[in-house]
Amino acid sequence: MEDCLFCRIVAGEIPAEIVHSTERTVAFRDINAQAPTHVLVVPKDHYANAAELAAGDPVASAELVSTAAAVATAEGHDDYRLVFNTGAGVGQTVFHAHLHVLAGRSMTWPPG
Ligand code: IMP
Repeated sequence: MEDCLFCRIVAGEIPAEIVHSTERTVAFRDINAQAPTHVLVVPKDHYANAAELAAGDPVASAELVSTAAAVATAEGHDDYRLVFNTGAGVGQTVFHAHLHVLAGRSMTWPPG
């Protein structure tokens, strides 16, 4: 997907602050951080959203969550929030599956 922003980050064509990577995932800091830790964990292969990823590559789907937990631990957080936005109606803006890792401040529920 040559026109996909996150595919281009995975390929190293667009710079990003990568904090962790595994066989199937890359984790990098969100350019518009909403918390002291705000990292996006993405599969290296292109899937439009979390549901497509889970259906197409369940191993990578699980690895996204374990990578997110490793990132939170590495940044010293026991408490953190993981978010998949799925669909423009709930705020998905980049249509390459990504798991938000948010931590380092208090948070309310429900989200806005
Ligand atoms: P979404 O709204 O759930 O699709 O999340 C997309 C996220 O990607 C947003 O939090 C953006 O701030 C973030 N983002 C957009 N462009 C870049 C970039 O070039 N590098 C890192 N994060 C980005």
